[in-house]
Amino acid sequence: MRDVFEVSRYDAAGRLGELEVPRAGVTVETPALLPVVNPHLQTVAPAALESEFGAEALITNSYVLYGSDEFREPALAAGLHEVLDFSGAVMTDSGSFQLAEYGDIDVTTAEILDFQERIGSDIATPVDVPTPPDADRERAEADLATTRERIDLVSATDTGEMLVTAPVQGSTYPDLREAAAEHAAASGLDLFPVGAVVPLMNEYRYADLVAVVAAAKRGLPESAPVHLFGAGHPMMFALAVALGCDLFDSAAYAIYARDDRYMTVRTTEHLEDLSYLPCSCPVCAEYTPEDLRGRADDERERLLARHNLHVSFAEMRRVKQALRRGDLLELVEARARGHPAMVDGYRALLDHADRLERTDPVSKGTFFYLSADSPRRPEVRRHHDRLDRLEPDGESVLLTEGNPADGFDECWRVAPPFGPYPPALSDAYPLTAQVPDRLDDAAYEWAADGVRRLVAAHPATEFTLAHDGWPASALDRVPDRVELWTLGET
Ligand SMILES: [Zn+2]
Repeated sequence: MRDVFEVSRYDAAGRLGELEVPRAGVTVETPALLPVVNPHLQTVAPAALESEFGAEALITNSYVLYGSDEFREPALAAGLHEVLDFSGAVMTDSGSFQLAEYGDIDVTTAEILDFQERIGSDIATPVDVPTPPDADRERAEADLATTRERIDLVSATDTGEMLVTAPVQGSTYPDLREAAAEHAAASGLDLFPVGAVVPLMNEYRYADLVAVVAAAKRGLPESAPVHLFGAGHPMMFALAVALGCDLFDSAAYAIYARDDRYMTVRTTEHLEDLSYLPCSCPVCAEYTPEDLRGRADDERERLLARHNLHVSFAEMRRVKQALRRGDLLELVEARARGHPAMVDGYRALLDHADRLERTDPVSKGTFFYLSADSPRRPEVRRHHDRLDRLEPDGESVLLTEGNPADGFDECWRVAPPFGPYPPALSDAYPLTAQVPDRLDDAAYEWAADGVRRLVAAHPATEFTLAHDGWPASALDRVPDRVELWTLGET
C-alpha cells in the first residue's frame, strides 16, 4: 500500500482525509463521491460534473471502452482525460459488473489492467468476482479464491504511478469478508473497494450492509482508504462514512433519472407522485413537477440526473461539515429517523461502538441526546470505561442529580445517560450533553450501569445515589449496597 492517504480528522470511525492520486497530479478530499460516467450515455457531461458539482474524481468502465468501436482508439491515442474532458482523477472499473451480470467477459485481468494503464487511468481495478448477498458459502469461497488470484497477479505487475484497487468480496459472510480484506491489505495495492453491496442497498438491508462493511474494516489496517462500490444513494452516506468508508460512486443519479426517480436524503420518489419539489437546487428552483413531466424524455432525464447529483453532493458536503464539527453521529441519527431500514442500519452501527470508540475524538461538539439509541454511542461507552479508573476521594461518596449535601467525604454528580462523574469533569465532553427534559427509560438505565461500574471498582467505598425519580428499570440495575435517596422526598 503506497502512502497516498492521509486522515486529518476523525468522528466515530468516519474520517476527513486526502487521497493523493499521483498519476492525475491531484489530491481528492475524502469522503468523496465519484459519479459514474457511461461514455456512451453521458447524462451529465464530465466537464459539468467538475464545474457545476465540484467532482474531483469520477469513475468509468474500462471494459465498456475496451469493447467500444467509438471510444477504444481515441482513448488509447489521446487518453481518458482528453476523451472525457475531465481534469480530475479518473478511476476505472474492469468489467466485474458485466461478469456478474452476464456470467462471462472476453478479457483477462492482465489484458484489462494493461488497457487501463494505456488509456491513462489514474486508479485501476482488476477483474474481481462479485458474489451477490446470500450466495452459497461454497460459491462465495470459490469466487473469493479467483478474486485472490487476480489481486495477486496485479500486485506482481508494475503499474507505475497508477493506483490499483484490491476489491473485498465475500458475499454476506462476515468471516469471508474479513479474511478477504486481510488478503487485500497484504497485497500491497492501494485502495480497497467493498464490492457487491448494491443488492443490499436496493433492498434497504442497511443492517446487513453495516455487518459486511464492519467485517471488511476489521481485516484492513486503519490507514487503508475504503471505497463502498456502487453506493450512490445519499440517504446512507452519513451511515457509511461513520463506519469508515472514504469513497463512494454513484451510477444511481443517472439510472434513477432514466426511470423518473427523484432522490432525497430520506427516500426515493417517483416524479409522477410529486406535487412539490422538496429541494432548492437550480433544477428544483426553476421547475415544478408539472413542468418536468411535460419535458421530452431526454431533457427530463438530464434534469432529474442533475437534481439527483445536487442532492448527493450536498449531502456529502453536509457529512464533511459534520465530520469537521464533530457531530457526525447526530447526522447519522437524524438520517436514521427518515426510514425504518435506516434505524436498523444505525442500530447495527452502534453494535460496533467499541470499534467506533477507538478513533472517536475525546472532545467534540456538544453531545445531543436524540433517542433511546443515543446511549449506545461510543462516548457513553468511553465514559463507563473511564469510571473504572476514576478514584473517588474518601470512604463515603454521594452521587447526586441535585445539590451537594453535607455528611459525605465527596459529592459527585450523576447524569443520564452517562452516570456518575466528579464535578471537575462538568465542563468536559461529553458531559456537557444536551438532553431532553422528557427522557426515556434507557437514559436512566445506562446511567445506572455507570453507577454499577463505579461501585464495582471501589468495593471499600460507601455510595449513596440521590436521584430525581428514576424508573424502577434503572434502579433495579443499581447494586443493592448503594443507598437510594429520591430528591424532593428527603
Ligand atoms: Zn433539486
